[in-house]
Amino acid sequence: LESSKEKIAVVGVGPVGSLLSLALAKRGYSVEAFERRPDMRKVAIGAGRSINLAVSFRGLHALKEVGLEAQVLEKAIAMRGRLMHAISGELTYQPYGLDDSDCIYSSSRSELNKILMTKAEATGNVRIHFDHKVEDVPEFAHVIGTDGSASAMRRAMHVPSQEDELDYGYKELEIPAGPGGAFLMEKHALHIWPRGTFMLIALPNFEGSFTCTLFLPKHGCLSFDQLTGPSEVEAFFKKNFPDALALMPDLTAQFFANPLGHMPKLKCYPWNQGGKVLLMGDAAHAIVPFFGQGMNCGFEDVSYFMRMLETAPDWETLFTEFGKVRKPNADAIADMALENFLEMRDRVADPKFLLEKEVEKLLQKEFPGKYYSRYALVTFSRIPYREALLRGQANDRILATLCEGITSANDVDLKKAKALLLNAPSLSAH
Ligand SMILES: Cc1cc2nc3c(=O)[nH]c(=O)nc-3n(C[C@H](O)[C@H](O)[C@H](O)COP(=O)(O)OP(=O)(O)OC[C@H]3O[C@@H](n4cnc5c(N)ncnc54)[C@H](O)[C@@H]3O)c2cc1C
Repeated sequence: LESSKEKIAVVGVGPVGSLLSLALAKRGYSVEAFERRPDMRKVAIGAGRSINLAVSFRGLHALKEVGLEAQVLEKAIAMRGRLMHAISGELTYQPYGLDDSDCIYSSSRSELNKILMTKAEATGNVRIHFDHKVEDVPEFAHVIGTDGSASAMRRAMHVPSQEDELDYGYKELEIPAGPGGAFLMEKHALHIWPRGTFMLIALPNFEGSFTCTLFLPKHGCLSFDQLTGPSEVEAFFKKNFPDALALMPDLTAQFFANPLGHMPKLKCYPWNQGGKVLLMGDAAHAIVPFFGQGMNCGFEDVSYFMRMLETAPDWETLFTEFGKVRKPNADAIADMALENFLEMRDRVADPKFLLEKEVEKLLQKEFPGKYYSRYALVTFSRIPYREALLRGQANDRILATLCEGITSANDVDLKKAKALLLNAPSLSAH
């Protein structure tokens, strides 16, 4: 579509809205963007949601398309695997890929957002109106709603939606840096304390601290409801996360000062109203955070949108086709993110699961280009999420067959593996 004189309105200048504004501006469009909050480059904004987040291949690809990959990576920390902490303090490491290049990057959410806003404004084609809460679809020819999971645009469009919330909450807690900015745990890993129905995770920050997130049911016998005072919190951590507790000198003060976060899940459709309004990012598909893909998926939305813009005959076709292409993939990552919750909090401590992961690693090594783990497809490729989901289901069947009756990955029958892989569906080129 030609970059006509009509301005495009972007509602919500979070990570996805700021990336979209920048991408449109670079393509010659004029953007008027509206953001409910004040300018975070001038005013310190409360922690809100997740201080840091994991950026992976899909997100990095979208950043590369606007020339920002290197700048974002400058202050990101590579996480090359999961480091599991047992109650005993024993550590188990699971690399994400076959070598160190397969990693995800812990980045500051606000830094990322600030870079994107600054670059967008620097094009001269984007005007961001801060402290501007939009309540109804603004009077522009084309409006893109990137206003997050509680999207006012979505409500104004009366889109049929399925909205609910995980009955878990989360609380962020900091492990401060050591003397001289030293990392007090392994720097290049995503730390997990899996404890069955709940878990703690930690991601490294550039300046040496870690941001931990406690995921726990909101109600019930082991829940946030029970952690009513400092002694309960202290006892809970002492029992379940003693090594983390030792690194958190002011745990209880933090615990009661920081808000309890909620995790909305949202599926809706259609995402557009003719060629007038379109939803993107969390406004169209909010998912639970356990695959580290929410923002990556939103960034991929922007990539797809910009590519489709090149050839679309008109705005209505563009908006409609965008929803058709992205919806099955957004649904797929939503389902995989929920499954990954069970994997992270529970299965990573299960010997059967660990054996399957070992066998999986072996298959990746023995059959390069033939076997890909679902994790790798989601995190280190741009294969559509839906395809990754289907391939993952095929993998599960292969792994279950190969692990039958063995206790060590060394005993896996490679001939049988080869035969099973021959029948696996092939992947589309991406
Ligand atoms: C605990 C947690 C951890 C996560 N970890 C990861 C991770 O590791 N990797 C990953 O990829 N994703 C992660 N996510 C998901 C990620 O945070 C979201 O997918 C991402 O923030 C979505 O970006 P967005 O721009 O679509 O929406 P949002 O980030 O919600 O931004 C929406 C913007 O719109 C503004 N806004 C809202 N309403 C209005 C209005 N009416 N008018 C004007 N402006 C408005 C808001 O102020 C905000 O700036 C995590 C989420 C959580 C909760």
